[in-house]
Amino acid sequence: MALAVNGGTIGDFSAYRGHLSWAEVKEMYDAGWDILNHSFHHFTKPGSNFLTEVTENTTSIKQNLNFTMSHFIVPGGEGDPNYRYEYEKNALANGHFSVASYTGVGPILKVDSKVELDKMITARTFVLSSKDTTDFKTMDRFLKTVDSIAKFPTPIWYNEFTHGTGNGNLWNLSMRFPEFKYYMTTLANKYGLKGNDSIWMAPWQEVYEYIWLRDRIKIDLQQKNKEVIVTIELPEIPEIFRNRDISLNIETSSKFEIESNKDLIIKDDGKTNHKLIYLKLKQ
Ligand SMILES: [Zn+2]
Repeated sequence: MALAVNGGTIGDFSAYRGHLSWAEVKEMYDAGWDILNHSFHHFTKPGSNFLTEVTENTTSIKQNLNFTMSHFIVPGGEGDPNYRYEYEKNALANGHFSVASYTGVGPILKVDSKVELDKMITARTFVLSSKDTTDFKTMDRFLKTVDSIAKFPTPIWYNEFTHGTGNGNLWNLSMRFPEFKYYMTTLANKYGLKGNDSIWMAPWQEVYEYIWLRDRIKIDLQQKNKEVIVTIELPEIPEIFRNRDISLNIETSSKFEIESNKDLIIKDDGKTNHKLIYLKLKQ
């Protein structure tokens, strides 16, 4: 999953408060969560400096956690109806590959052919708790949507969003934790490794980077009698990418070895895991 953060509200707090500390954001990042830019102060009102809201947040995360965010989530709130365009423009002009906004492409994107990833603006889809009391039926309705999407005959990329999770339903835009847990557990059991293994769940940036590389990597196959040589030619990968992984889906019981390239690590040789060869590219 991904977390969209406002650097202006992260600090070093006592245990009893509503905001994440730097140590906690770092812990989530290290555990594989994406950390996405959500503006420095969550400003939305007229007169806000939408440029520095974007750039100060990038600087703040770089200074405190030493990585560069590369995807932007427009903060919601009161303002001029067009403030989102200011955010979209400034984020794309200042190092962000995509912006999640109110309108745009998605939430269902076909990925069986090359995906248009350049300066991407997406529409976000909310998952929310019921208004008043914990009610798993509300979650079941959202799960029904996912179920119909999971049955698509072609591979698709689907993204969901909520404003937060915790004890309550913050601003009626969030998920109470028991409902969040129910939602995630149901998805894992039904579509995960222990279920029918039909969904790969990963945070936004990870999927974006995977598809980016998939669409630009060049793979050449040459067969000589019983031997097949797979040549992989890599594109110039942007330095701020966090993931440099690619998988080859292959049907054979033969073994593999790396011929020459020192920049590739085979993380899985395809014998135990879905006939996938999983390759990690060194930074
Ligand atoms: Zn927000």
